[in-house]
Amino acid sequence: MNIVYLTTEAVPFAKTGGLADVCGTLPKVVAAQGHRCAVIMPAFSTIERSLQPIETTDISFAVPMSDQKLIGCRLLKSHLPKDPNDPEDSAEVPVYFIDQPQYFRRPSLYGDANGDYPDNAERFIFYCRAAIIAMSRLGWPVDLVHCNDWQSALVPALMRAASDNASKSPTIATMLSIHNMAYQGNFGFDAFPWTGLSWDHFRPESFEYYNQLNFLKTGVVTSDVISTVSPTYALEIQTPEYGCGLDSILRGIPQPVEGIINGIDTNIWNPETDPNLSRNYSVTDWADAKIDNKLALQAEVGLPQDPDVPLIGLIGRLADQKGWDLILPVLREHLAESRPTQWVVLGSGDPKIEEQLRELAEEHKDQLAAYIGFSDALAHRIEASSDIFVMPSHYEPCGLNQLYSLRYGTPCVVTRTGGLADTIVDATPANLAANRATGFHLNDNSAGALDHAINRALQLRYHSPEKWKNLVEFGMRQDWTWRKSADQYIQLYARTISLNR
Ligand code: ADP
Repeated sequence: MNIVYLTTEAVPFAKTGGLADVCGTLPKVVAAQGHRCAVIMPAFSTIERSLQPIETTDISFAVPMSDQKLIGCRLLKSHLPKDPNDPEDSAEVPVYFIDQPQYFRRPSLYGDANGDYPDNAERFIFYCRAAIIAMSRLGWPVDLVHCNDWQSALVPALMRAASDNASKSPTIATMLSIHNMAYQGNFGFDAFPWTGLSWDHFRPESFEYYNQLNFLKTGVVTSDVISTVSPTYALEIQTPEYGCGLDSILRGIPQPVEGIINGIDTNIWNPETDPNLSRNYSVTDWADAKIDNKLALQAEVGLPQDPDVPLIGLIGRLADQKGWDLILPVLREHLAESRPTQWVVLGSGDPKIEEQLRELAEEHKDQLAAYIGFSDALAHRIEASSDIFVMPSHYEPCGLNQLYSLRYGTPCVVTRTGGLADTIVDATPANLAANRATGFHLNDNSAGALDHAINRALQLRYHSPEKWKNLVEFGMRQDWTWRKSADQYIQLYARTISLNR
């Protein structure tokens, strides 16, 4: 199959979240199975920092964004990097960048301190239209276009409209993956003319959504198949609680919403070889090595060095989604009561949460280290050094940190939602007895439930060493490589293409 991935993020070229990890890896694993893959993304300023060589191509074209505005661009080209130490990571996947400096060469991808960029509708309509033209210039016929999130979600509708105009049926199958339902790209109807289509196309069965232009909704009703990143999230987004207004539309589409769990890059996230750690380890020698890593991390972040104190790790965006409203009260209680725990937090985002964490860390230097910012290396060390990892998201389409935690032998405390519910098996007495537990679920989404689940984890860690060992090692042995997920995507691509023919 010939597959094109449309995305605004792919490691190592641009990243704000898990989408980048998916689009930087999945195409390579699919290509390694003998399929032809390419990625088309905007040429954001961040691509220059990727350390990958970037070439110019002789492909350039213009998109008539309005009668007065003909916007030119050229394609740049690079490749998804291959790991020289991994013989399976050998597939060549070209990445084409749509280079339009006014739209894309900005300090960040989607917005700045003032919020989203005001011309995001125009920027990403341009990206969708340019990507369709770029696909026709690759020199090979595309069988399926895999769109990711709202920024590329207009492509199926734009391709349909073009084929309506040419009175022929579209020949490229379309799939849309939703990585987070909360981000839909919803704009006023006055953005619609940037599509270059006549107002006849502004209809509920395509672009229109309550007199607005909603990118994600448009993709949902016009793509051949919709997928998301875990089976539980696939069901959740069809309910009013999680559907962010689109649940009834998702329930009404002809094909079921598919849920495929993301894999992790086990070359980058491997405690046996991770260059960021003080001491590497495997499932056979994790216990002492994790203590050495803990001592090193305590020294690095300025916490008192103590091999016995439980170290609780948290990494993630400082956004409501991630459950900071549950974490902060529990953290405050631990600090106020000087409970025998240490906490290390890495994150950035909401300035209000940043401020609270900074203040708490300032007041309780011996118990909390808060690193406000983005640090990949520190994220690796927190995963390796913590005794437990806490991730009480209110919703979690898939989540990656709990998968990294499993691999690094750091059991997770999680809410029972989305990908967290699908990947972490609660340490109930029955699951512990059957040796299939890998972490701890909250009984409900409250601070009390989080405190209770953390206590359950600490109890097991310090009072049932044999059960803890089984839990850690069963988690470390799980296979969350991309190979398994890629096989599911490949089957879904084949089915989507056959639907379309
Ligand atoms: P989301 O995509 O909702 O942000 P995921 O758990 O799916 O959450 O993926 C987040 C990714 O970004 C993970 O690879 C995580 O380690 C990383 N990450 C998030 N915040 C930070 C940070 N402050 N520093 C380093 N890595 C981070």
